[in-house]
Amino acid sequence: MTALWASGEFVQAIAPLGQPGAIDDVSGISIDSRTVGAGDAFFAIKGDRFDGHAFARAALDGGAAVVVLEEAQKSDFSDLTERVLFVEDVLKALERLGCAARARVAGKVIAITGSVGKTSTKDALWAALKPSGKVHAAVSSFNNHWGVPLTLARMPRDTEFGIFEVGMNHPGEIRHLIGMVQPDLAVITTIVAAHIGNFSSIDDIAAAKAEIFEGVVPGGAALFNGDIAFADFLAERAKAEGVAHIYRFGRTAGADVQLSALDLQADGSDVSVDLLGNMVQCHIGAPGEHLAHNALAVLGAVSLVGGDVKAASEALAGHGASKGRGQRHTLCAEGGDLLVIDESYNANPSSIAAALAALGLITTSGRKIAVLGDMLELGDDSKAMHEGVLEPLLAADVDLVFLCGPEMAHLWEKLPMTRRGAYAKASADLISPVLAAVKAGDSVMVKGSLGSRMGPIVAALLEEF
Ligand code: ATP
Ligand code: MG
Repeated sequence: MTALWASGEFVQAIAPLGQPGAIDDVSGISIDSRTVGAGDAFFAIKGDRFDGHAFARAALDGGAAVVVLEEAQKSDFSDLTERVLFVEDVLKALERLGCAARARVAGKVIAITGSVGKTSTKDALWAALKPSGKVHAAVSSFNNHWGVPLTLARMPRDTEFGIFEVGMNHPGEIRHLIGMVQPDLAVITTIVAAHIGNFSSIDDIAAAKAEIFEGVVPGGAALFNGDIAFADFLAERAKAEGVAHIYRFGRTAGADVQLSALDLQADGSDVSVDLLGNMVQCHIGAPGEHLAHNALAVLGAVSLVGGDVKAASEALAGHGASKGRGQRHTLCAEGGDLLVIDESYNANPSSIAAALAALGLITTSGRKIAVLGDMLELGDDSKAMHEGVLEPLLAADVDLVFLCGPEMAHLWEKLPMTRRGAYAKASADLISPVLAAVKAGDSVMVKGSLGSRMGPIVAALLEEF
């Protein structure tokens, strides 16, 4: 098997300072000494909380083929004579390696951005393209200044389809990242008020997302949500950036990938899609209208990069929602099953409404229960946005609601008495009341921003039943 990086090409791409000692071929790329594998190259990245240099020796002990360190910290590592490369800036060295990885891949590269649905779409696209060839995709939500170059650097040379998630917290971030990814196809899932805390308006968010078009290769394509108010703006921006082929997906008449029929069911959806002129019928195994909508982007992307659409639609039938993003667990409780829907990874007004709508589709005789934690980073409108969750809660006819966090206190005030389960300031204090209330036959959906720590509530339910 060929190594991920032959030692010579690795050193050439990194361009270390001074005269590097001998290193072996590199079989993987790591920035975390806890998971470093034998033969990996370890990059000592500086994060908000940790400096990877503190773990460089642990990485070597763990079998790293080489550690890439900053020249300014060389004196701390003067005893190391081999398996080490010094560079001026470790992140920039990782970026250089990422660019070298991109340059050697002849397959199709797809970049996905959007306010919500990047990871869900990336995971579904991974499943859909798998039958068509060798797919390389970002792990989890690796979409930022280190996640993107890391995913690039890990891309094997024989990749036929590379799938990248590109995120941002500030203007200019996507521009920088997409310059490295250089996608054949740029996808925008949707634009909504997520992470608005760092932006003055949703227009600024749309402009920042549109930076993705700046990196599309000549002859490449753009595929974006045609149902949003920014669709025309995105089309203009893609055109201005010289993107050769511009496509829209959605319900809106005239979309290139158009939903022509949708049958939402409790455990999936049947869709009929006019896919660039060909009618495709498909069952989407991941429940909820939002995930059916993402599937339009997936089918469009498969078709545009030359994948097998029939195989993709079959794969989507067997693909469920991603971990923490609607993943379902059917548990055996005394007297029947209990459904736990894990939405603990993330929450914003759009995704919380989508998850509640999916919960509302469930028709079993048991109760529908929502356990919700704060949606973070919503800025000045946070209170109103939390109160606004009442509407989708009532529309989904949720029987019992458990809430935690200072922002969810605003929703608690609005909640009809008959639907009140319990309120707690911290998620840890909600575990007991939830466990005490839940019983066989119920469907329980747990959702909140990652920082609201809803994961332990899901874990407690999985452990209890
Ligand atoms: P992040 O910025 O944190 O990486 P992301 O863009 O990758 O987020 P996901 O992790 O896929 O988004 O999804 C976040 C939440 O939004 C999940 O609860 C998911 O079920 C929901 N979601 C996925 N797609 C959509 C959509 N099209 N509309 C609304 N909500 C969605
Ligand atoms: Mg993500």
